[in-house]
Amino acid sequence: MTDPDGSPASLRFRRVILKLSGESLADSGQRGISGEEVAGIAKQIMQAHASGCQIAVVIGGGNILRGAQFSGMHAMIHEATAHYMGMMATVINSMAMQDALESLGCNTRVMSAIEVDTVAEPFIRRRALRHLEKGRVVILAAGIGRPFVTTDTAAAQRALELGADAVLKATRVDGVFSEDPEKNPHAVLYDSLTYNEVIEKNLRVMDATAIALCREHQVPILVFNFKHDGNIVRAVTGEGLGTWIGTRPH
Ligand code: UDP
Repeated sequence: MTDPDGSPASLRFRRVILKLSGESLADSGQRGISGEEVAGIAKQIMQAHASGCQIAVVIGGGNILRGAQFSGMHAMIHEATAHYMGMMATVINSMAMQDALESLGCNTRVMSAIEVDTVAEPFIRRRALRHLEKGRVVILAAGIGRPFVTTDTAAAQRALELGADAVLKATRVDGVFSEDPEKNPHAVLYDSLTYNEVIEKNLRVMDATAIALCREHQVPILVFNFKHDGNIVRAVTGEGLGTWIGTRPH
């Protein structure tokens, strides 16, 4: 059974941006890249993709380097330089994810917002759309290619540019909580929130620019726990999980 545009009728989303933090590629509490973690996430992305959803993945670089933090620790390094280093970190992570996905037989393209022609295509919007339509998982590296923002903002910006139906923000906890659930076991998990509630309650979901972009253009955000096997496919097929941020009911 398919919708008029050919996508399977059961799918909630036709096209999504999946935002993975760099830390999701590392062992818990560690830095760097864990082969096991990357393989586990690749398997989940592969399953989600097999459900018929077009997936563009935005990967962060925090497991290697975050610009603001790094320049704060090393006064001789200009903050802009540190942000470019952070972008390079996302390229490294994207390359790992590409090979993990390809080893499972999933066609992928890494598209980078900074020039690294030897290892990735440049990000060209129309070409990215073509890859998605052809059933390739597109891995978006280097954020938006400009310093002083994060890959959360890149996820929101690319969602607008590529006409994604939602940003799926993968985290290590079950969604958005009233407080940090790893510090306060009584923190309350929200089922749904409006963009304004996220901003007013100062909830740490994504950075403020990303929330503002999604609010202005009514792009919903689903915050969910990727650590439970199968949750990425549940997120794209619309099985109620996580916290829904937007204007529509959950
Ligand atoms: N970054 C940037 N411009 C972008 C995206 C990322 O300057 O468009 C830099 C920024 O320094 C950021 C780092 O790359 O801290 C790594 O990305 P991020 O912090 O978003 O990674 P995550 O926290 O998701 O692992």
